[in-house]
Amino acid sequence: MTKFTDLNLNPKVLKAIAEAGYESPTPIQAGAIPPALEGRDVLGIAQTGTGKTASFTLPMITLLARGRARARMPRSLVLCPTRELAAQVAENFDTYTKHMKLTKALLIGGVSFKEQEAIIDKGVDVLIATPGRLLDHFERGKLILSDVKVMVVDEADRMLDMGFIPDIERIFGLTPFTRQTLFFSATMAPEIERITNTFLSAPERIEVARQATASETIEQGVVMFKPSRRDREGSEKRTVLRGLIDREGDKCTNAIIFCNRKTDVDICAKSLKKYGYDAAAIHGDLDQSQRTKTLDGFREGSLRLLVASDVAARGLDVPSVSHVINFDVPGHPEDYVHRIGRTGRAGREGKAITICGPRDQKALDAVEQLIQKEIPRLESPVKSKPVEAKDTPKDEVKEPREKKSASKPRRSDKTDRPERSDNKPTENKPRSRGRDRNDRGNKVVGMGDHLPSFIALSFAERRAG
Ligand code: AMP
Repeated sequence: MTKFTDLNLNPKVLKAIAEAGYESPTPIQAGAIPPALEGRDVLGIAQTGTGKTASFTLPMITLLARGRARARMPRSLVLCPTRELAAQVAENFDTYTKHMKLTKALLIGGVSFKEQEAIIDKGVDVLIATPGRLLDHFERGKLILSDVKVMVVDEADRMLDMGFIPDIERIFGLTPFTRQTLFFSATMAPEIERITNTFLSAPERIEVARQATASETIEQGVVMFKPSRRDREGSEKRTVLRGLIDREGDKCTNAIIFCNRKTDVDICAKSLKKYGYDAAAIHGDLDQSQRTKTLDGFREGSLRLLVASDVAARGLDVPSVSHVINFDVPGHPEDYVHRIGRTGRAGREGKAITICGPRDQKALDAVEQLIQKEIPRLESPVKSKPVEAKDTPKDEVKEPREKKSASKPRRSDKTDRPERSDNKPTENKPRSRGRDRNDRGNKVVGMGDHLPSFIALSFAERRAG
């Protein structure tokens, strides 16, 4: 088996990884580090959890150990699709460079331009950025990319999902033709293949096994859910969610609950909190300090349930999650693989439970086709008795009506997926009766002058009386 000491890494890097407790390189590291150190381009087909971050950071640091950065001219560039992933890569850099004097800057949304510019002005060895933010800085004239020697594109498939490929192509064009490129993607969609053919030069291709197929330690199950009434779908589904958490009991030490829609992320987190569960939400619309605080709490174990969208949770490295619960079946089957890969890491046992609603059947079929197995059907934790109005919990959270802007997601949040028109929350949607009431006031048309007074009363007045 390859050892880290066989890999020609800088001794200070070796010291840092030994202190991090790594004993031997993972397959993607053993495959990518040697060609990267030779200055060759690398195409890594691997996903989070395989050790891919170290597979590009360790050789980069070794290569950057010689030389110094000049003002505004970073020597290397790491592009990540989300702020969380960028922040995580930055953390990795700090761990591996702790015995060296390399400087880095993190360019992500939610952090002031001034602060970031001050760091870039001094000169940085490594610039870790989301594509949009990097281009913003470039356009402000504060950043020069002509000294970039190594460029990393991380999670390119996610960049594609989020519409970042034109930005990536532009950034490739702004860096020197002679740069070295380390390119990572979990899958090779035709568009990704095209980019790598255009911008990589004779890359060493390293492919490691997909996590879902590799990890047999994840127990999977699906609960088929049918609401008693369409307008109660949301609240009944949340009852199923609570039932699942309760049924798992102490075995569920912590869980990530995935929702397809940002609105559901908020509603589920609020609902769980109202029912006394230790839960918090994370999605693309929350400000950075809030997201960091929530994530840190979850990592440290002070938060038990993290309700998340795919984008926000993408690439998160939380070493021991006992459960993943899919509040809906994801629209892209690959997202199922990513989601359940949050549990059962590094040989630990994990459980992934999915709630399949009335409109999720097709998506479930696609998932089963991708993973090439049928997910065992689990009994619902909730008896199928129709919920009577009086059974509806008083502290259930109100579902907001969809805001107009929600149908136009920001580019960076595309995969938080906008609501489908057939999937809008309906629980609190006023019926036409409500509109009539406002339009007509107390008058009842067409019954003559001698009207029994109770007929003329509006609903609101009657309830108030
Ligand atoms: P990644 O795929 O880069 O998100 O890495 C997943 C996790 O594996 C991170 O927590 C790393 O710190 C950890 N890791 C990376 N390489 C190794 C290694 N060679 N041995 C043990 N853990 C590692």
